Amino acid sequence: MTATFKNFIDGEWTAPSTGDYFENRNPADWNDLIGRFPRSGRDDLERAIASAQRGFARWSRTPAPLRGQVLQRVGELLVQRKEEIARAMTREMGKVLAETRGDVQEGIDTAFYAATEGRRLFGRVVPSELRNKWAMSFRRPIGIAGLITPFNFPLAIPTWKTFPALLCGNAVILKPAEDVPHSVHLLVEVLLEAGLPPDVVQLVHGQGSVVGRAMVEHPDVPIISFTGSTETGSRIGETCGRLHKRLSLEMGGKNAMIVMDDADLDLALEGVLWGAFGTTGQRCTATSRLIVQAGVHDRFLQMVCDRAAALRLGAGLDAATEVGPLIHEEARTKVEEYVGIAREEGATVAIGGSRPVGGALERGWFYEPTVFAGVRPGMRVEQEEIFGPALSVIRVQDLDDAIRVNNDVRYGLSSSLYTRDVNAAFRAMTDLDNGITYINAPTIGAEAHLPFGGVKQTGNGHREGGWEVYDFYSETKVVYVDYSGTLQRAQIDTYGE
Ligand code: NAP
Repeated sequence: MTATFKNFIDGEWTAPSTGDYFENRNPADWNDLIGRFPRSGRDDLERAIASAQRGFARWSRTPAPLRGQVLQRVGELLVQRKEEIARAMTREMGKVLAETRGDVQEGIDTAFYAATEGRRLFGRVVPSELRNKWAMSFRRPIGIAGLITPFNFPLAIPTWKTFPALLCGNAVILKPAEDVPHSVHLLVEVLLEAGLPPDVVQLVHGQGSVVGRAMVEHPDVPIISFTGSTETGSRIGETCGRLHKRLSLEMGGKNAMIVMDDADLDLALEGVLWGAFGTTGQRCTATSRLIVQAGVHDRFLQMVCDRAAALRLGAGLDAATEVGPLIHEEARTKVEEYVGIAREEGATVAIGGSRPVGGALERGWFYEPTVFAGVRPGMRVEQEEIFGPALSVIRVQDLDDAIRVNNDVRYGLSSSLYTRDVNAAFRAMTDLDNGITYINAPTIGAEAHLPFGGVKQTGNGHREGGWEVYDFYSETKVVYVDYSGTLQRAQIDTYGE
């Protein structure tokens, strides 16, 4: 019997008003049906918003340290259920078990950080320019946060948004990607078990173009936090701008690793394999470009090709697998199209460039790790996000050249430099135009307690993670207390005659 899942609205697991469902299948084996999930409509969202408003009225008055205690329990429950959730995530998303365990761990780290923030959530007391007067700021909850998440980090990204939003006293409505609804279902179970009041969290499954869009357009959802493609983010940004909503956008990337002549090539090799082919290249921070200085270019390209060609494809639940499938058919087709584009543009497909043939791999969305050699700056495979196991290799003369190539794309999420020259490292840290730069480490590997995000068309200036995200989910209120007993006029009585 196929499992049928429900939304969580108004404190209950509830069927969608549409009576409509979509299938969630394993990308490593499309015969494996995980379950049917609600294809909800606007009515479901309306009910979720009405309930979340009631939840907000209560939760926003709960002291922040007590909100933090709930998140502490959330973290503890995630620890207990880590393996179960990781396995469910691999089954619906495809990435290997070590990575889905890491995905859950990121949620755990985010929960424990949020729990302690409940006893900080600092405001400031600053000296007033007037006598017998206090000036201070504190942080207020805002309202309902609409959280729209992508497929590639099925649990971690929802937790990056949910936990700080809740800690700050907001209610949340989750709209997970249709490809990975089960992981967020499990997250909501954990939140409820931890003691979160049921109307503070709502889960509305369904299409982005219906549920997501309705949430973005709804006047009673003042906060939208979106992670996904730059194209979707642009559309959301237009609507939120018109409606004066608070909006966080975390979008695409075209991240580069730079390898200089003096680099430890063995170290850089491990880094590029993990950065480019981990998560089958479906990370916003994936290493999509490899920029190599001329002196080591040919040798390093050969090293990368030898190892990448030997990576083992398979189901993520199989311990021997190094690279899982792509998320769905369109994702694989997109990689195939870029292989054609690379050839047309004059690049060489050094390895890969095909679907694997034979056996169980033919029942999933697998694609061979692919390396494009002879890529020149400006080519489409050098500029556009492919979001698959494809790496473009570009030869450069020196560090200036490398920095220019890194910066000359519309995205600005992550970058990395392998060198033994401390001066080069510090120059790169300053001049690489990205939100995150790694030295002697690949473009992936963010930690939950540091701000995460990118510049240019990757983001809109906000950050997830760390301390900065708490500013996004709260409003600053300033209070002046004048206990002088007289009218004191700022800027006038202080400096007047
Ligand atoms: P996507 O297609 O843009 O979808 C992201 C989410 O938006 C999904 O939940 C989707 O729902 C929803 N959505 C689609 N159309 C919408 C609309 N008109 N209004 C409101 N919501 C809408 O992205 P994806 O393919 O899942 O994820 C891959 C992308 O995410 C890549 O570009 C990657 O770089 C980016 N990403 C960025 C970061 C970062 O932090 N910068 C992190 C991870 C991923 P459906 O599932 O129903 O379509």
